[in-house]
Amino acid sequence: MLVQRPTTRASAPKPQSILIVGCGIAGPVLASLLLRSPGPASSLPHITILERNPSLISSGQNIDIRGIGKQIIRLLGLEDEIKRSTTGEEGVRFVDENNRCWAEFAVDKSGKVETGTSDVEILRGRLAEILLDKTKRDSKDVQDRGGKGVEFIFEDSLGSLRQDEKKAHVQLAKGGERSFDLVVGADGLHSRTRKLAFGNEAEGCLKKLHMFAAFFSMPKEDENGEWRSWFHAPGGVSIMLRPSGTKEKSTVLILLADKSGIIADQLAGSERSIPAQKKLVMSKLNRIGWQEQRLTKAVEAADDFYFDVTAQVNLAKWSHGRVVLLGDAGYCASPFSGMGTTLALAGAYHLAGSLVNNPSSHSQAFEAYEEAMHPLVANAQKLPPAMPHLIHPQSTRGVWVLRILVAAIYWSGVGTLLFKWKGPPASVVKLKEYGLLDEKGE
Ligand SMILES: Cc1cc2nc3c(=O)[nH]c(=O)nc-3n(C[C@H](O)[C@H](O)[C@H](O)COP(=O)(O)OP(=O)(O)OC[C@H]3O[C@@H](n4cnc5c(N)ncnc54)[C@H](O)[C@@H]3O)c2cc1C
Repeated sequence: MLVQRPTTRASAPKPQSILIVGCGIAGPVLASLLLRSPGPASSLPHITILERNPSLISSGQNIDIRGIGKQIIRLLGLEDEIKRSTTGEEGVRFVDENNRCWAEFAVDKSGKVETGTSDVEILRGRLAEILLDKTKRDSKDVQDRGGKGVEFIFEDSLGSLRQDEKKAHVQLAKGGERSFDLVVGADGLHSRTRKLAFGNEAEGCLKKLHMFAAFFSMPKEDENGEWRSWFHAPGGVSIMLRPSGTKEKSTVLILLADKSGIIADQLAGSERSIPAQKKLVMSKLNRIGWQEQRLTKAVEAADDFYFDVTAQVNLAKWSHGRVVLLGDAGYCASPFSGMGTTLALAGAYHLAGSLVNNPSSHSQAFEAYEEAMHPLVANAQKLPPAMPHLIHPQSTRGVWVLRILVAAIYWSGVGTLLFKWKGPPASVVKLKEYGLLDEKGE
């Protein structure tokens, strides 16, 4: 329940109409935070969220929330609910063909050391569901107090976008033109908002890491406990089998190195065809010697199969006129950073705060947002030297060298030091104070 009270901490923004494209992680958090701007409900922005999917899918890959990301879910009053929904992953075990463990790195449950497993691991879809519910509750609360709240449009997307001095004009794919003061592209790695608003500038902003990732879930077996098993096979293949937080299923992430571009060539023209993607992944499982039949069957049967290139987004600027990018759309750091969700949460926080602090100039607000977020993004995008290709060896010998190396790190006890030195940089930047009200309206 948001409590309304006058405050002098920041001047209230003029009522603005804001379109947020994408209801993943960053989109609903931005909406909820904007509704926390100080001032009467009638002065709050009128927000529209546009999402191409019909509804949110509560599965999805295991993601982690770290450092300042946790501060933001606390500010939203969601910490307990999110913690009740975590997957309960105990840590990472490097295993071989015989399921022998070569090294294990446990989660630091105090959250002080950022290891491979965060103390807050959750399925992406479940997190998106919790965030959307929260935004719906906040919207209703504002509407009850006389504000406009949030309008949700599902199953539609951005057809076209043009801007003039006064407004951004959007054509929805299913028809109908709408005009907004601001448009926020929170539509993920392959953002259409970015393509439409940035045109040529956005060309080449995807820094491909020459890796593909496949994600799906499969029935859990008794031997699959709460540890993540990470198996490496020659040919640049690695497989993670992880807990989902339920007794029924395990989640699987398969990473495929593609330095030579063969996979990209094989998929050329059929990148979006799930049968073609599944066929390719199954071919990579052939003779890996670990859970081969189970995994192959699971790929075939999966109805939540997801496959994508892994990449980072590098843009000189995150805004163009009245359009600004948020989360993966503007500065994806890739799954190897372990920071995607935390960046999406922090981005939403800084964008909301910057808009509240700069009520009469969106350009100044966008500049302040970039300034606040840049250090965190720069840190997150700096991947450790071994990521991702050195940990995806091509040869059998390379796989054994990797196992010996991780075992040496484990047995020598330097793992914690390494994580302290090169773990995800989720707390390197402190959150700025913008006067956004917390759950108690304080
Ligand atoms: C395999 C994999 C593993 C990952 N592991 C981790 C991890 O361990 N830790 C971590 O922090 N992060 C991880 N991430 C990254 C994390 O999922 C993202 O960084 C995070 O979800 C970004 O949030 P977002 O809101 O910016 O984008 P998204 O969550 O991608 O949301 C974008 C939304 O926009 C919608 N959309 C897209 N296009 C349109 C359109 N044209 N019109 C309307 N709606 C549209 C989409 O349907 C989606 O709902 C991983 C990602 C992948 C792919």
